[in-house]
Amino acid sequence: MPGRGAAVGPLSLEPDEAPALPTPEWVRLKPRLAGICGSDLALVDGTASAYFDPLVSYPFVPGHEVVADVVAHDGYAHGRHRRVVVIPVLHCAVRGIAPVCAACAAGHTNRCERVAFGHLEPGLQTGFCESTGGGWSTEMVAHPSQLVDVPDDLSDEAAVMIEPTACAVHAAKRYDGSHTAIIGAGTLGLLTLAAIRATSDATGPIIVTARYPEQKRLAKELGADVVCASDELPRWVRSTTHSLVVGDQLTCGCPRVFDCVGSSDSIQQALQVVAPGGEVEMVGMPGNVSLELTSLWHRETAIRGVYAYTRADFDTAIDVVRSAGLERLVSATYPLRDYTDAIAHAANAGRRGAVKIAFDMRSH
Ligand SMILES: [Zn+2]
Ligand SMILES: [Zn+2]
Repeated sequence: MPGRGAAVGPLSLEPDEAPALPTPEWVRLKPRLAGICGSDLALVDGTASAYFDPLVSYPFVPGHEVVADVVAHDGYAHGRHRRVVVIPVLHCAVRGIAPVCAACAAGHTNRCERVAFGHLEPGLQTGFCESTGGGWSTEMVAHPSQLVDVPDDLSDEAAVMIEPTACAVHAAKRYDGSHTAIIGAGTLGLLTLAAIRATSDATGPIIVTARYPEQKRLAKELGADVVCASDELPRWVRSTTHSLVVGDQLTCGCPRVFDCVGSSDSIQQALQVVAPGGEVEMVGMPGNVSLELTSLWHRETAIRGVYAYTRADFDTAIDVVRSAGLERLVSATYPLRDYTDAIAHAANAGRRGAVKIAFDMRSH
C-alpha cells in the first residue's frame, strides 16, 4: 500500500525559470541540498488542510530545508563565497511591510500575521510562495535577512538538517525537565529528542514511541531512556509516574507530551498520558482531526501548537546539529529528475529504514 505522499499529485519537473528579485536587495541562491518535509508531502499528495489555501500561492517550487550558495553580485558579498541555510518564514520584514505586525515586533516572527500581504505573493514560507522559488530547484531568491551562514566545519548533509532542527529547538523550549513523552520517532520526533537533550541539563526520563527498528535504534542513540511501541506507551508512563488507571485514563502522567505525529490517534494518546494540568505540544502538523476532549476539560490539560522558529532557534540548531551528529539522519539524496522516487522514499521513510530524504543539486 502506498504511504502518505506516494502520489506526486500536482508536482512536475519544469525547465529552469529563476524568479525575479522582488526588490534589489534580494539575492539569488543556487541550492546545493534541499530536504523533503512532511508538510511538503501533505501538499504534494493533496492531504494538506484547506487552511493553507490562502497562505500559499501557485505555482510554487517546494523546498524550505535549503542549503545553498549565494550567487555573487555587485554590491553584495564583496566576492566572499557564502554557503547559507535559509530561514524560510516570510514575515513582515521579508515582505517589506512597515511597521511590522505586533507578533514580529515582539520577536515572534514565526507568528507573523502578514504572510499573505506585502510585495510578495501569499506564502507562509519560502517553498510555498510563487515569488521566492524553493529549494527543489537550481535557482531561487531570498531576502538577506533570511540567510544564515553555514560554518565551514559542517557538511552540506549536516547543514540541510539545520532547518528541521530549528523546529525541534523551538519545541524543546517547552521541555520542563520532568517526565516527558515524545510520540513518534520520524524526523521531528528524533530531532525534538536530540534538541531537548542538547539544550537541557535535566535528566528526567524521556519515553519515545517508535514504530520501526531503525527509529528505535536512533531514539536510543539520541538519548531516550525508554523506546516503545505506541500501544505500550500508557503502560510505561503509568509505571514511571506511579499512576493508577481509571478506564482508559491514567491518573497521573507526563507534564509535557510532545506529539510529533499530529494524527487523531496520536493526539488522543497524548491526552491519555498527559498529567492533569499538563500540556500536549503539537509539534507534528495536524489537519482535520477527530478528538474526544472530555478529559481535556476535566483534567485541565491543554494542546498547544509549535510552529517554526526564530533566528535564535537557527543559531542554536547549528550547535545541536554539530553536537548530536545529526547529519547521520540524512539517509538518501536524489537528483531532481528522480523526484518520483525521492517522494516515494520520503513518504515511506520509516518503513524503509530512512529518516531524511533530500534532493542533491550539486552536480548541476
Ligand atoms: Zn518543514
Ligand atoms: Zn509580521
